[in-house]
Amino acid sequence: MRRYCPWGPVLVCAAAMLLSALVTGCGGPQLISTDDEIKMGREAASDFEKQNGGRDQDPRRAQLARTIGARIAPVASAPPHVNYPYEYRALANDQVNANAFPGGIIYLWRGLYKTLNYSEDQLAWVAGHEAAHVARQHSVRRIERSLGYELVIQLLLGKDSQRQIAGAIAGLTLQSYSRDQESEADRVGLDFAHGAGYDPTASLAVIGEFKKLQGKDPNQLELLFDSHPGNTTRENALKAYLKQKGWHGRYF
Ligand SMILES: [Zn+2]
Repeated sequence: MRRYCPWGPVLVCAAAMLLSALVTGCGGPQLISTDDEIKMGREAASDFEKQNGGRDQDPRRAQLARTIGARIAPVASAPPHVNYPYEYRALANDQVNANAFPGGIIYLWRGLYKTLNYSEDQLAWVAGHEAAHVARQHSVRRIERSLGYELVIQLLLGKDSQRQIAGAIAGLTLQSYSRDQESEADRVGLDFAHGAGYDPTASLAVIGEFKKLQGKDPNQLELLFDSHPGNTTRENALKAYLKQKGWHGRYF
């Protein structure tokens, strides 16, 4: 007759689930709750804002961010997506960039408005791309992976580590997503922009501007291009998706 501890398999299973979530970052259970995700994202965003130029007070840019956000957010938070409290902000930073925090705070940088000549349709695709990173939970999963299991376990146990984690997230937000996540964000960004009533073909104009800028001043685009697939690859993928959907517009 064999004797064994009946809890053994349960513990092993729980540990395996935790590890698989941390190692693969997908397919496993989500360790950070949506409430914690939103709370941490907000704290991290306020740290980030202070370190990167602050909120852009220019009324035209701030208003555009709000207008686009008000149209994209309902589409991005409709089922099957989580209903995140999206908030679009303009950042007083001349780099050509945009970024998103877990939980839905999204920044459109001053340099981006200028490069895209304040085109609402073009900005809307970039805004949709960032919302896609939030909606598909690319960032929260990356945080779970990057912070390591000790911090996540502290968080799960409810210790007062949120501040510490928020600081780590502020730094993580500018690091790379995977190429697959970027390609997914490009496509889902088109869905969001189209669903919000914008011209999805404006995405091609955005890539066109990036191509021009890349020739002129590659450093300007370092952040934006770090993790994204090449422009021609992105352009071809966007065209294929637009064709597949049968979407036409001013730029295609
Ligand atoms: Zn991206």
